[in-house]
Amino acid sequence: MLDIDKIRSDFPILNQLIHKKPLVYFDNAATNQKPQVVIDAIVDYYSNYNANIHRGVHTLSQLATNAFEEARLKVKAHMNAENSFEIIFTSGTTHGINLVASGYSQLLHIGDEVIVSEMEHHSNIVPWQMLCEKTGAILRVIPMNELGELDMDAYVKLLSDKTKMVFVNHVSNALGTINPIQFIIDQAHKIGAEVLIDGAQAAGHIKADMQALDVDYYVTSAHKLCGPTGVGVLYGKEKCLLKLPPYQGGGEMIKEVTFEKTTYADLPHKFEAGTPNICGVIAFGVALDYLNELGFDNIASYEDELLSYATEKLEAIDGLRIYGTAAQKTAVISFNVSDIHPFDIGTIIDKLGIAVRTGHHCAQPIMNFYNIPGTVRASFAFYNTKEEIDLFISALKRATMMLS
Ligand SMILES: *Cc1c(COP(=O)(O)O)cnc(C)c1O
Repeated sequence: MLDIDKIRSDFPILNQLIHKKPLVYFDNAATNQKPQVVIDAIVDYYSNYNANIHRGVHTLSQLATNAFEEARLKVKAHMNAENSFEIIFTSGTTHGINLVASGYSQLLHIGDEVIVSEMEHHSNIVPWQMLCEKTGAILRVIPMNELGELDMDAYVKLLSDKTKMVFVNHVSNALGTINPIQFIIDQAHKIGAEVLIDGAQAAGHIKADMQALDVDYYVTSAHKLCGPTGVGVLYGKEKCLLKLPPYQGGGEMIKEVTFEKTTYADLPHKFEAGTPNICGVIAFGVALDYLNELGFDNIASYEDELLSYATEKLEAIDGLRIYGTAAQKTAVISFNVSDIHPFDIGTIIDKLGIAVRTGHHCAQPIMNFYNIPGTVRASFAFYNTKEEIDLFISALKRATMMLS
């Protein structure tokens, strides 16, 4: 379906040697690479129409404003949001989560409960812990099982009329597990709780439909969607965003300022204080066009092929254990070999041109669950190939031989 050779030629970074070996980039769960059209959009913006938006009547300002707002429409269409003002541009997933958590500090009371899962990125744990400290709300945790799947029976038991909010990631960055978010959302709504989905890890693989999911908040980062760093999206339902107090005060987010009283701007500007990452947002729109042209179904089915191919090869290695073997997974493989430290494997295979992530992947509770300090994580994108997986497997075999 996908022409991988053609696709690879769209990504200039892939065509290089690292330590005299062809680069094999398997750290896509941390950030993926950028196609030439995205790089060109960034150069074009700063070369031809850099100006501040929503403020000037001059031509460049209007060009920049139009391109910025066009990107918002692209994101709206991509996420199937009902209204474009439900799309708030942020600096990334972490910012989006903190924005909601900060607003909620004025909406929660002592004894209220909020629910996270054991499988979250730290950015979907720590802001809620801070929120609970501020408000006296109680944090409950959905446990996971040995396969790296969330326990839905336990989840349903945690829900009560005290529950105000549920925060779960769509896909785990450390394990690749795709969580049953539709069930999680539906159950929460039954008891009147709101749901925030951390979509950072899902975004590059699954096209999430805001209206079909009926989700309250969904956050993601452009840099995991072939866009630039420092840009993200917070989708919020209109009624949720209306009641959520603003996060930061400043320019652009106000209607009228006097020393007696300031009134806030309408959505989405109420949450977009200050000059945003204009160029980044525009380039993000271009990245979405690129990915949608390839087709998310095509991307997912090709990545599934890579996942099965690599899983089979890895399972054949003596002493290798994969963490996260959920039935529903994206192309992320977390593993260890015997008791070799993941850092040592990562360091050696880097010398052979292979880029993987090692460590706790900002998800220490998962590592605690398995009682390990960390894992080696290989994560694939649609521009990776089976030949690269072969290079990775032979590098891994060399490394484990040296280290055992
Ligand atoms: C990458 C990631 C984040 C953090 O995203 P930032 O862009 O660093 O804000 C949060 N959650 C998950 C699941 C992620 O994969």
